[in-house]
Amino acid sequence: MPAQVIYRGPTPPLGQKWCFVCAYTWKNAVNEKHKDQIDLAGLAEDTETVVIDAAEDPDTPPLEVAVATGLNGLLAQFGVLDLCWSHLNGIQLQTASGLHLPPPGGGMPGGMPNGRGPFG
Ligand SMILES: [Zn+2]
Repeated sequence: MPAQVIYRGPTPPLGQKWCFVCAYTWKNAVNEKHKDQIDLAGLAEDTETVVIDAAEDPDTPPLEVAVATGLNGLLAQFGVLDLCWSHLNGIQLQTASGLHLPPPGGGMPGGMPNGRGPFG
């Protein structure tokens, strides 16, 4: 039976979680860095536990806290995810008529006094 590999990494702030893409990227970087150790654990004939502690590894990519649930272009097959600002897809809201919708929080429709016009 191969050895069991246990990972240790940074813990998100209380009540929050890491962005899915950030965590996914972080785990991949840890796997690459410790590939030899992981491969050896897979070949082990005992029930030894191998601990990979990357909680304070300065060579791992940064982890950002998730701020919204949405889509990420590179991982669209996973559906909606908890994402940081960097990995959350942006969208330009537009009506079927081509008029831009006001931003969240209000604003005057295009063409109205103090509005930005239909194209901006
Ligand atoms: Zn992220």
